[in-house]
Amino acid sequence: MRVLISADWEGIAGIVSWAQEQEESMRCRRLMTAEVNAAVQGALAAGAEQVIVNDSHGSMRNLIIEELHPSVRLISGSLKEFSMMAGIQMDVDAAVFIGYHAKAGTARAILDHTYSGSCVYAWRLNGIPAGETTLNAAIAGYFDVPVVLVSGDDGLRDEAESIGAVHVQVKEAQSRYSACSIHPEAARERIESEVRSVLGRIREFQPLKVSPPVTMELDVVSSAMVEPMLLIPGLERQGPRTAAFTDDDYVTAYKAMRAAIALANTVRRG
Ligand SMILES: [Zn+2]
Repeated sequence: MRVLISADWEGIAGIVSWAQEQEESMRCRRLMTAEVNAAVQGALAAGAEQVIVNDSHGSMRNLIIEELHPSVRLISGSLKEFSMMAGIQMDVDAAVFIGYHAKAGTARAILDHTYSGSCVYAWRLNGIPAGETTLNAAIAGYFDVPVVLVSGDDGLRDEAESIGAVHVQVKEAQSRYSACSIHPEAARERIESEVRSVLGRIREFQPLKVSPPVTMELDVVSSAMVEPMLLIPGLERQGPRTAAFTDDDYVTAYKAMRAAIALANTVRRG
């Protein structure tokens, strides 16, 4: 069994603000690395022969490689074709999401956003609001890989369960920037034992398949952001702040949206 761990940052126990990236960067990186290690230990205990870890947050250079379990392989840095799902093409059997967060527009959820906090107001997949959990699970599904577990706060639970994964809660959000976390050691114990448990019954989990045609719609925070997006062939403006792209191939549509977000983020105040 080969397992991919996609590791984000906002859903790690003890993390409540992006200010912590500046104020206590190294400490947060250690907390993140330790939660990933807990998932690695669980995967190894369940019989995984190979664990691939993909650093999926911001610069994608957060995890401290020398503090990771020596058996893992780490994908870090950016740009990556599959971004938060880099490694999915490496013949894996299951995917685990650690440190994930609720989608943009979720009430009372730590650091809710979808891919880009600066431009994405909402992202819909075939008409249904989707967060990183769903969008990334669909990439896994494209490669016939099920997502078996998603860890983060309580605001993430509904989306995690909607893709058929087990949700592991490490903190309870009190607002967007405040949470009651369990102790990091308790979070690690919970993650390790749940990863071991779900991988032990991997056959119960199904890959998330999106049937074509695939329509992605992006609401952005300003009308100016849609304008450079229109350079993408096939992308259409559906409203002042809304762009849409349809294709039969999920990854093609996903890449068009990633390109659209990259273009939107080039817009500066005129
Ligand atoms: Zn992140």
